[in-house]
This record gives sequence, C-alpha cells and structure tokens, in this order.
Amino acid sequence: MMEPLNPKAYFILLYYCFTPIEDPEAFREEHHLWCLAHHLKGRIIIASEGLNGTISGSPKDCEDYMAYIKADPRFSDIDFKIEKSDKHAFEKLHVRVKEEIVHADLPNIKPWQRTGTYLEPSEFKKIKDDEDVVIVDFRSEYEYSMGKFKNAITLGIENFREFPEKIKDLEKFKDKKIITYCTGGIKCEKASAYLLEQGFENVYQLHGGIIKYGIEEGGEDFEGKCYVFDNRVAVEVNSINPVTISACFVCGVGCDRMVNCANPMCNNHVPICESCGWTMEGACTVECKTHPEKRIYDGTGYYQKTPNGYNPYIGLIRRKSEAVIGK
Ligand SMILES: [Zn+2]
Ligand SMILES: [Zn+2]
Repeated sequence: MMEPLNPKAYFILLYYCFTPIEDPEAFREEHHLWCLAHHLKGRIIIASEGLNGTISGSPKDCEDYMAYIKADPRFSDIDFKIEKSDKHAFEKLHVRVKEEIVHADLPNIKPWQRTGTYLEPSEFKKIKDDEDVVIVDFRSEYEYSMGKFKNAITLGIENFREFPEKIKDLEKFKDKKIITYCTGGIKCEKASAYLLEQGFENVYQLHGGIIKYGIEEGGEDFEGKCYVFDNRVAVEVNSINPVTISACFVCGVGCDRMVNCANPMCNNHVPICESCGWTMEGACTVECKTHPEKRIYDGTGYYQKTPNGYNPYIGLIRRKSEAVIGK
C-alpha cells in the first residue's frame, strides 16, 4: 500500500499497560512480527509487568494495532493517546524485552495491585490550582527544563531511577493532595504507588500524563513544550495560554528549539535558536564547533546514531564518568 502523503496522515500512539505477562519472550516474538507486517515503527518494551510503547504508522495500521491489543484480555483496560503527524516519528521498529517497562529499579512495586488515584485531564484541570494541591513532576531535568506545569515541584533528577531518594523532600506535603504527572502517565504509576508505600495518603496521578491533558483539555498552564522520546523531540501541548520557559544555550534569547550538539563527543541536548544554530553550525560551544569530528548541521540538530537509535542519556552518562576520572 502507498504511504499517505497528506499532512497529519500518520498517527503516533503512546500507551502502556501494567499487567502480568507470563512469557515475555514469546509475546515479544509474536508482537514484533505483527508490527512488522503492519508497517509500524517505534519502540515497544515488554516485561513480565506489562507493555509500553510509542509507535507511528498510517491511521489504518494504528487502528488495527489498537484493536489487536484490546482484543487481548490482558490489555483490555489499555488507554491509547493518539497524536497526528505528517510523518513517521521513528526510523525503525524495536520490540524489546526488559526487566521493567519503565526503568525504576523497583520490581516489587506492582501498580496493577495498588497505585495513586487516577485523575482524568478534566478533573485535573478543575482542581490543579486548589490550595491543598501539590503538583509534582516526576520527569528528569532535561525534560522539565523544556516545559512543565505552572507551579509544579520538580525533583532535580537526571534519571527516573533516582526519584526514591528525593521523596523525603515531599514529606512536608504529607497533609496535602499530591498529584504526580509525567509525559504519558507510566512513570506516575510506579511513583504514586511508591508514595503510597512510603505512607503518603492523598496520592493522585494525572492519568495519561501531559500528552492526554494536551489532547483532551488543551494543555492549560503547561509552560513550555513537552519533551518526547521520538524524532519530534518536543511537542506543543498548550493551545490555551502557551509561554516559552527555556532559553537559547548560546545567546540566551527565549527559545524552545531542542538540538543535539553537532560534536558527537559532546552531544549536549540543549535549546539553540534558529539563528545561533546556523552561526554555530549546530554546536553548543566554540570548542564543539571546531571539534574535528563535528557532524554536518542540516538545520534540525537531529542526528541518527547507532542502530539503537537516539539515546538522550548518553551525554549525561559520559559527563558523569569524566567527572569520576577527574578530567
Ligand atoms: Zn541563540
Ligand atoms: Zn557541544
């Protein structure tokens, strides 16, 4: 079949489901083949605790996928966030088995047994400004520095796995309603379950995350853009009262255009404005601009890397190990 050429002729599906899967390897095999046969691209993770994915494809293939998943009783409660795009959001399809569908190093937390109370986007919109409400962002710094809810508390973490260490900072809000949020809701399933386990009582989670709130309620009071883990890098979710909160790494002008530094040894993921992008040839500093391995800047600041695809953590990991060896 011809691939559609119309603008917005692709769907991007974001979804997860916590449910016990007995034989993740066997399920992976079957699932992978099904997705290949339906021309889907993206990243799907399967674990004994469930299924998590972001995929793109034609509306027909995506509709078929959703029907295929929902027909499986294990996933009958699954909630798909559907966004539209004029192209695929991924270059390839990866279907992998991992220990957890969202890496938290908390294998004993089972959200399908107990998790924070779901708040649908409309309910969240109604109560988010109440005095007894505290909104907590469970995403990493590179994500919330691009955009977050007005007045949200952030945890200063570089990776979701670090959040349990930060829970003590929330102790002072124990008598308030705590509402957790993340991109698509999956991190909150574990984070809110963990809060309950730690003795917090009024724990709620924004069901479907920022993305669903943007689709259903126009994203009011989400400031900046929402970081996403596909080729789009960041998406607009607020059509009601949008503002820019990030600034160009080079010149400091208000800017939310995320690029990867053209120096592959740096690969810093920062906002760089259109104009600085061209003058700096996609590099974040003068040193990076003159690096011998600097990649060719095509105006996007996006570079296809190893067969494993784009990994936003690489820069962070490398900087940490340099700090250890004292470079
Ligand atoms: Zn600039
Ligand atoms: Zn750089």
